[in-house]
Amino acid sequence: MTEFSQFLTTHEAALRGGVMFSLLILFFVLERALPRRTQTVSAAHASGNLLIGLINGVLLRLIVPGGLAALAFYNQSGGVLGLLALPDWLTFLLALILLDLVLYWHHRLFHEITFLWRFHGAHHSDRNLNVTSGLRFHPGEALISLSIKAGAVLLIGAPAVAVIFFEILLNGASLFNHANWRLGKIDKALQTLIVTPDMHRLHHSRAPDESRMNYGFFLSFWDRLFGSYKAEPERTHEHIELGLHGAENDSFLAALRHPFTR
Ligand SMILES: [Zn+2]
Ligand SMILES: [Zn+2]
Repeated sequence: MTEFSQFLTTHEAALRGGVMFSLLILFFVLERALPRRTQTVSAAHASGNLLIGLINGVLLRLIVPGGLAALAFYNQSGGVLGLLALPDWLTFLLALILLDLVLYWHHRLFHEITFLWRFHGAHHSDRNLNVTSGLRFHPGEALISLSIKAGAVLLIGAPAVAVIFFEILLNGASLFNHANWRLGKIDKALQTLIVTPDMHRLHHSRAPDESRMNYGFFLSFWDRLFGSYKAEPERTHEHIELGLHGAENDSFLAALRHPFTR
């Protein structure tokens, strides 16, 4: 293990926390400077979403103290990429692309399997997307997601550095995609490569034929490849109806109760 990867693994939690906190502040400011939709999000609602993010962070650390990076570290030379023994840079790149592919299907299955949808519905019950929505995932979903990602890390044989990078990317992309900010023409241009706020907002539409589109988290390529890409909502982004029918209360407690009320 190089000194650099050892440094990253040791400081993984501080690094992830630091990037996450900085991006939260950045997008919070951008939402106010360049809002995409006119909407009011109460301080209580935003702090409820932040609290869910905090609960998930603590819960996952208690279960896997070193995070997925520690798992990858103990699996060195294992998994498919370990067997292939490719150059480091190529292994790193392939690990990121394959993990993103897993996340696409992970998200899609959370919509297609009824049991999983009970948990993921808590995320979709948010009626106004903003940067804090990027943290609103039911702890049940976070736990199931941890097992899926752990399996993927072992099977792929992703190096610890790639896992750390991917998790920072994933957290950052989630805040970026849920933020209520206007990128103008840049949004559409970016969609040729990555998932953007406009692309993900369409996924949060109440219309089932829209919420079952745009599953990607980082690369937009998977939605195009698997036939789930939709460029524009039926209504404009300013008027698209967000949330879930039958889940009109999007408070902190309602989100936690959501899987058990379906
Ligand atoms: Zn979804
Ligand atoms: Zn979302």
